[in-house]
Amino acid sequence: MPNQLSQEELAAFRASVNRLAKEKLAPMAEEIDEKGEFPWQVLELFRDNDLLGLQFPEQYGGSAAPILATVIAVEEVARYCGNSASVLNVNSLAAVPILLGGSPEQKEKFLPPLARGDLLGAFALTEPNTGSDAAGITTKAEADGDHYVVNGRKCFISNGDLASVFSLFVKTDLQAPGVKGISALLVTRDKDDSPGFSIGRLEKKIGGGPIHAAELIFEDFRVPRSAVLGEPGRGFYLAMQSLDKGRLNIAATAIGKAQGALDLAVDYARRRVVFGKPVAKFQGIQWMLAEMATKLEAARRLTYHAAELLDQGSPEASQAGAMAKLLATDTAMEVVNKALQIHGGYGYMKDYAIQRYWREARLGPIIEGTNEIQKNIIARNLIGRI
Ligand SMILES: Cc1cc2nc3c(=O)[nH]c(=O)nc-3n(C[C@H](O)[C@H](O)[C@H](O)COP(=O)(O)OP(=O)(O)OC[C@H]3O[C@@H](n4cnc5c(N)ncnc54)[C@H](O)[C@@H]3O)c2cc1C
Repeated sequence: MPNQLSQEELAAFRASVNRLAKEKLAPMAEEIDEKGEFPWQVLELFRDNDLLGLQFPEQYGGSAAPILATVIAVEEVARYCGNSASVLNVNSLAAVPILLGGSPEQKEKFLPPLARGDLLGAFALTEPNTGSDAAGITTKAEADGDHYVVNGRKCFISNGDLASVFSLFVKTDLQAPGVKGISALLVTRDKDDSPGFSIGRLEKKIGGGPIHAAELIFEDFRVPRSAVLGEPGRGFYLAMQSLDKGRLNIAATAIGKAQGALDLAVDYARRRVVFGKPVAKFQGIQWMLAEMATKLEAARRLTYHAAELLDQGSPEASQAGAMAKLLATDTAMEVVNKALQIHGGYGYMKDYAIQRYWREARLGPIIEGTNEIQKNIIARNLIGRI
């Protein structure tokens, strides 16, 4: 896929992903959610349709697609199955530090199998005592000859229990202040043979159950020093750059979920008869739907704009990405909430798909930098250093 796509090409790409999601993912979305297990069949489907390495260069098995195309793919998938969108997002976020900081050897070794879905990846930054304050991580990697010895814990790591390749953020220079001593390591795990790297607690979540949030435990885990991604001591910046890209996928997921919820609400309002007429005939319901659609469209356009800025390498991209993540995830919360309200009592019942959208949308304002942190980023860019 060329790096620049015309409007017609983007529309054709959207239509093909929409068809795939509607025909293949929508019918299994409920079962995937109920089961709570990683949907390997979805990974296979994405592999067969070249959706796993969209942003990877072609030499590493990818499509070299613009970020806007990834955003559109994630949006269309999330419209029908939020868990499937997470399959795309988690592998993509794990790969971004390799794309941005990996050596040619690291890219050659890990990107093609990630694009084929032969490997699952995970992005491991958060720790039990440090989420928003990522500079405060304490997992340490101490040099010992040509190895690092890693000790510490990560928590809430999506796909952490199943992944075999990790972008892992650690302190390699314990004396360096703040973010300066943080490095990114490209770490592999073989579940039967990785002494010192084990999986702890799997969280019980209120949504997105099939994508497990795992605790990673490192006890004298040995990693070759050649595993550093980019330069030692620059890992924090690599994490932040990666999240600039990842956030757009979170915004796209939110837009897709909101669109899916709006579709359900319109359909239900047309069919549900109360006081002798479909509730869609009541102006109160019509105005609700109109507001939902309007706010959703504004969030969608801002997200596309942020993706285009990132594609152009614009210095404004980070600011626009933070704004898009903030607006899209907050809007999705409002839209799914109103969509559930339009379903009345049935909306609260597990038999109706809207409850799944409602539970899943709650994650958007929390992950990849909470929305309070997005506001801090936006305000910092406005005000500068004082
Ligand atoms: C389902 C799920 C999957 C996840 N997957 C991953 C993953 O794959 N990899 C990974 O590394 N992490 C992952 N996370 C972690 C996620 O990124 C963090 O939960 C998130 O960054 C918030 O950190 P925290 O939970 O420690 O909240 P805290 O940092 O403890 O924040 C608590 C509250 O204080 C607010 N707050 C904090 N600082 C400020 C401030 N300066 N100004 C204003 N308000 C502030 C926050 O917005 C929040 O409301 C996942 C989390 C969840 C729930």
